[in-house]
Amino acid sequence: MTETPHDPPIDLRSDTVTRPTDGMRAAMACADVGDDVYDEDPTCHALEERVAALLGKEAAVFTVTGSMANLLAVRALVPPGKEVLCEARAHIARAELGAHAAIFGVTSRTWAHPRGLLDLDAVQAMLVPDAGPYFVSTAAVSVENTHNFGGGSIQPYEGLRKLREVTGAVGVGVHLDGARLWNASVAAGIPVGEYAALADTVSVCLSKALGAPVGSVVAGTAEQMAEARIWRKRLGGGWRQAGVLAAAGLYALDHHLDRLADDHTNARDLARRLADAVPGSVDPAAVETNIVVLNLPATGPTAGEVAARARQDGVLISVLGPTTLRLVTHLDVDQAACAHAAEVLARALTS
Ligand SMILES: *Cc1c(COP(=O)(O)O)cnc(C)c1O
Repeated sequence: MTETPHDPPIDLRSDTVTRPTDGMRAAMACADVGDDVYDEDPTCHALEERVAALLGKEAAVFTVTGSMANLLAVRALVPPGKEVLCEARAHIARAELGAHAAIFGVTSRTWAHPRGLLDLDAVQAMLVPDAGPYFVSTAAVSVENTHNFGGGSIQPYEGLRKLREVTGAVGVGVHLDGARLWNASVAAGIPVGEYAALADTVSVCLSKALGAPVGSVVAGTAEQMAEARIWRKRLGGGWRQAGVLAAAGLYALDHHLDRLADDHTNARDLARRLADAVPGSVDPAAVETNIVVLNLPATGPTAGEVAARARQDGVLISVLGPTTLRLVTHLDVDQAACAHAAEVLARALTS
């Protein structure tokens, strides 16, 4: 490679890698704060009320991570010894290090879908709300929208509506892991509140697509959230003048929601360029939001080799498996950076 590597690197590993903008830092610097463990931080209150309203829920709790938001939500719906059903590559099943079982005694069973989508027939076949003294009883179903390891796929609204009907009829709860619900909403043109109305509890992330440095929010009934606040403290997640972080979340909601469509356009462009350069490596039609999954032929360079070559040229991407790579577009990579990354990746894939 004769070209000098891109500096600073174009980081497509995740939408968590964004850095707060000057405007966001200014908002953080002048945030009005108090002690949030005493429930006295006005900016935390403002963020929680704003997100609860957006999601059409009674109350919300600001948490340090999406994992903690999911943990508190699933705990609210599933007593120890009962199960939550979810897709096989769901974040709660794969990427939260067994927390739901290790901490709250929640077990899970999964259905599998290549794009991480809800399979209502599978759910209906697994659902046992009252299994008696021999089998595990189902207390909740969790759905991820968009689905991270499914490639940023959007859950079809009609399926979620039917899930609500089916579970509601037997008293089983629904959790919506909406770490990237903002992306689903912008891409599908469906308000986040309409998705949230089909779930009992919802988690949303401020540090992924929206570009805040830290934080997620979990929402549900006032009673569930009062309990969630207690459990958050019990888990060591009580924080003091957290308003400086909540301010970043509020700023992100004001300034970074509408621009998500640009991330989606950039991801689709990137996918098209790669599909042209290496036919079959990516299906541009499968790119619905800001995530591009690349599937390499078993005969060529491995995912690790491609990522290492790209890194040498200043492009960072995630290795998800021996033949699978993931690229995520975000606030800190513009159209030109994505076009440059596509050239680098095309070379890395074919050399
Ligand atoms: C990132 C993510 C989370 C939470 O991640 P944290 O790193 O704990 O904030 C939860 N669900 C999904 C689908 C995610 O992609």
